[in-house]
Amino acid sequence: MSERPRLTVLSGPSGVGKSTVVAHMRKQYPEVWLSVSATTRHPRPGEKDGVQYHFVDNDQFDKLVANGELLEWAVFAGNRYGTPRQAVLDKLERGEPVLLEIDLQGARQVRESMPEAQLVFLAPPSWEELVRRLTGRGTEPQHVIDERLEAAKVELAAESEFDTTLVNTSVEQVAAELLALLGVA
Ligand code: 5GP
Repeated sequence: MSERPRLTVLSGPSGVGKSTVVAHMRKQYPEVWLSVSATTRHPRPGEKDGVQYHFVDNDQFDKLVANGELLEWAVFAGNRYGTPRQAVLDKLERGEPVLLEIDLQGARQVRESMPEAQLVFLAPPSWEELVRRLTGRGTEPQHVIDERLEAAKVELAAESEFDTTLVNTSVEQVAAELLALLGVA
């Protein structure tokens, strides 16, 4: 039996490549389960409801909060994001590893409610590289990019709160490191 913590939180500034790393990892190991968050953000081109996120409106999000259905939630760059509680608890109950890809505020809430969780920070190789990736993505207007860069400064300053830092110099390398932390490979 693995002694590793079963709940793993992956955080890091927007644009650092969290989704890319997780997608790469799950291509090799589809059994790695990732919680699908609810968000009030509009889908980006190519995003599908129920796959990247459960896209909900403000009223629906209010209800999720009021009914205690979220394990944690936060406002990020003007939109709300939250982790559905029950799906996570069901997985943990079955002894299966759970991966959350959430922001710093969410990571802090999980640390409070589930101190046994392992918190992993994904850092960019440099600030310049993060700006390049966030800008080059071409999915957000400039004011949203600026908002995300402001949030990134706060996130980067909180790196020491995490148990482990992985630097995203290579997607393959980081995916392998994350798999090891999850106890999968
Ligand atoms: P994006 O809009 O780029 O998909 O996500 C913006 C930020 O919200 C990212 O840092 C992402 O990790 C975070 N995020 C996604 N889902 C959740 C969630 O359920 N809770 C929290 N706290 N943050 C989330």
